[in-house]
Amino acid sequence: MIRTILKKNDMVMVITGADKGKRGKILFVDRKRGRVIVEGVNVRKKFVRPSQDNPKGGQIELPYPINISNVMVFCDKCKKAVQLGMKIDGDTKYRICKKCGKRID
Ligand SMILES: [Zn+2]
Repeated sequence: MIRTILKKNDMVMVITGADKGKRGKILFVDRKRGRVIVEGVNVRKKFVRPSQDNPKGGQIELPYPINISNVMVFCDKCKKAVQLGMKIDGDTKYRICKKCGKRID
């Protein structure tokens, strides 16, 4: 499964749904439920009570989880969303762009 090699801090692009075409960094990967939270994607307003961090309370904007299959890694060399491959080099295993071979990790 290609999707399972997505990691926190990967730059991804949304390939389907309301946020299609948006790019952001993965903030959280929930492998169990097959979901990711991506910076700036699926942002919803949430009402919060006043707290130490937010003394006035009110609305804050939070990115909500989306299905992991809705995103693909964005290759900055290809300038597009790409599939990943694995490359084994001696003892090290790393992820590459399937198109141009650029190392992603
Ligand atoms: Zn590439």
